[in-house]
Amino acid sequence: MANGMVRQEYIVELASRLIRINSENPPGREFDAASFVADELAKIGMKTVIDRFEDSRANVVGVYGEENQHPSIMLNTHLDTVPAGDREKWSFPPFSGEVRESRIYGRGAVDAKGILASFLGALKELADKGWPIKGRVVLAAVADEEVEGKGTKKLVSSSLRTDYAIVGEPTSLNVCIAHKGRAVIQVDFHGRPAHASTPSRGRNAIYYASKFIEKIQKIKFTEKHNLLGHPTCTVTLIRGGVKDNIIPDICAVTLDLRILPSMKLNQTLKKLKNLIEKNTSKKDYHIRIVNYIPPAETSRSNALVRAALNTVTKVTGKKTEVRGFTATCDMSFLVNQARIPTIILGPGRIEDSHVVDESISVSELVKASQIYLKILEKILS
Ligand SMILES: [Zn+2]
Repeated sequence: MANGMVRQEYIVELASRLIRINSENPPGREFDAASFVADELAKIGMKTVIDRFEDSRANVVGVYGEENQHPSIMLNTHLDTVPAGDREKWSFPPFSGEVRESRIYGRGAVDAKGILASFLGALKELADKGWPIKGRVVLAAVADEEVEGKGTKKLVSSSLRTDYAIVGEPTSLNVCIAHKGRAVIQVDFHGRPAHASTPSRGRNAIYYASKFIEKIQKIKFTEKHNLLGHPTCTVTLIRGGVKDNIIPDICAVTLDLRILPSMKLNQTLKKLKNLIEKNTSKKDYHIRIVNYIPPAETSRSNALVRAALNTVTKVTGKKTEVRGFTATCDMSFLVNQARIPTIILGPGRIEDSHVVDESISVSELVKASQIYLKILEKILS
């Protein structure tokens, strides 16, 4: 038990100190947090590299073991947080890392500085035991997960590869093996301007857009995934018109499209084009992909998935089964670019992230740390 208390103090202290280092994104300034993590990794005996880019952005990677040693596993989470927003609304200052009634408060407590502290707690314990493992363990704390994923993209463009990866995101300690892909699609509708007193002389781009928007609300996808359910497509932004007495010749509609691992983005785009072309001729609209993060999935029978399920069941005392992760995350780059079988697993609830008074329970952080430690011992035995 004494050991457990030491670990708890270490994790709470680290989570609190990480929260006190402001790494809001935007604007994105992870360098100070990366330096802090690098010092901790060096203290426990990991080889540490800070990869600094764009002035104040940075990833930090710690490695224990030699380059070609197998099996190997990467613990991956992020250093950046979403902005704190209006600080007046917080019960405690968002960068205080306040601990009250067994919860740690502050921006990033859930997403994902508490998780990073749990990762470090597991590694510290492994180090204290004298690294009783074979193979290689890597910790990667990356920049820019909350905006474009520049950090993990940079990480996978390097030669760093492992046999397995765990992405630390709040999953309430569930083992998630799949997430949807997310595409941001913009459709520009073109009309013809005219004086608003004679609408019949123009062609109203907002009307074209509104017909399309009505169709989008009724769009049905037959595809279904056993963990992720159906794809979704929804309008999130609209911008049209130039002046209150001109028939608008342009209207831009932005869609948030979430597709399943079995789907191809191009096929879904074709479906959208068909919907549009029921009301609008080809030359009167233009469709483009603004951003795309592909879906990802790891096989239920992968050794990491089985080890994680067993461990979570043992530590929490509750029988657990694989789940889907509701949002997109850095798993996409690890699976699609680096071809690393990956799971998402972390303490805290996703509903408690990105909110005012973000907070996480200390006992859940400690449990997560135990789970990570046992998975590492199992996979690297
Ligand atoms: Zn996150």
